[in-house]
Amino acid sequence: MTPVSLVACASYDPAALRAAAARAFDLADGPDPSGKTVLLKPNLLSASHPDKAVTTHPEVLRAAIRLFRERGAARILVGESPGWQSASLVAGRTGVRAVVEEEGVEWADFSESAVMEVPEGRVVKRFDAARAALDADILVSLPKLKTHKLLYFTGAAKNLFGIVPGLGKSRYHLRFPERREFGAMITDLVLAAKPAFSLMDAVVGMEGPGPGNGTPRPLGWLLASRDCLALDWTASGLIGYEPGDIPYLADARDRGILVPRDIEVRGLDPGRERVTDYKRIHVPHDTDFFRARLPGFVHRIARNLAVERPAFSDRRCVACAGCVKICPAGALAFREGKRAPVIDYAACIRCYCCHEICPADAIRLIRRPW
Ligand code: SF4
Ligand code: SF4
Repeated sequence: MTPVSLVACASYDPAALRAAAARAFDLADGPDPSGKTVLLKPNLLSASHPDKAVTTHPEVLRAAIRLFRERGAARILVGESPGWQSASLVAGRTGVRAVVEEEGVEWADFSESAVMEVPEGRVVKRFDAARAALDADILVSLPKLKTHKLLYFTGAAKNLFGIVPGLGKSRYHLRFPERREFGAMITDLVLAAKPAFSLMDAVVGMEGPGPGNGTPRPLGWLLASRDCLALDWTASGLIGYEPGDIPYLADARDRGILVPRDIEVRGLDPGRERVTDYKRIHVPHDTDFFRARLPGFVHRIARNLAVERPAFSDRRCVACAGCVKICPAGALAFREGKRAPVIDYAACIRCYCCHEICPADAIRLIRRPW
């Protein structure tokens, strides 16, 4: 069986979190860290205040640090490579730097990369990833439960994308613009990175247009597992998704890497906890129908016409240039007389990275008016 623990935790009170994290760890048969180097990887998407539910709450990080220290870890590091902002800025604004300093652990520099081989990968055989993730004995994913415009859901597996340094992530978006292939890349990344444990912050999740501009939604849970895919299967089901609709979970299941019937949820009863009114991302099943029947380039054009596309608000934009920097397709540029960037829709691959990182909520995803 593959244990996934689901435990109650109503707030970010440090004492409550500490007890809940220990229970989640034990129920999930967490790994023995004695004498080992542990790298904790929170989700630090952008420089947001913890109350916005964009990032893993710093008190969850503190609970994880204390847990691994108490269980005998020799060395604990914390690291992340945000999409376009500096790690230092993001660590400061999210409250993570303060926790790292107060707890006396190390901040890992993710800018130094090394090759992570994955011969069994389906779409990627080698990743350029943070050396610290390769060097650690135990890699721990500390995700935030959130909706995600591209993958519908983001949790422990997608959080690992942050070990790909900075704008290097854009290359993978450009290479895998389709949800299905991008999902397969995430599965390959899980195989490459081999996270030993995951502890999910679902005390407050994000619903609506996540992962960067949704709304906080109190859930009152911590989830944990040695298997990040089983954890995400469980968590996505708890907020009302059909987990097999999440591209990387479908891919992992189809490859036999994830066996849903072997998942054993320990702790709270998932049937009683399931949230039926969670504001999820709509999953369009018709794109698979057309994908199977249209030649590749025709499908790509049809898809770009059919799916939501970004639209920019001059009024809201603060001209930070984040979207221009992160856009993998080079589809955005500033033009005289406009505050917000201008988009070339023919070049845009609908990856939604711009929407994900916009700090001013100046980008809406809209359907083409016919
Ligand atoms: S404009 Fe936005 S959605 Fe389009 S390719 Fe660039 S980052 Fe992706
Ligand atoms: S649209 Fe958002 S990300 Fe882009 S420049 Fe304006 S504020 Fe920055």
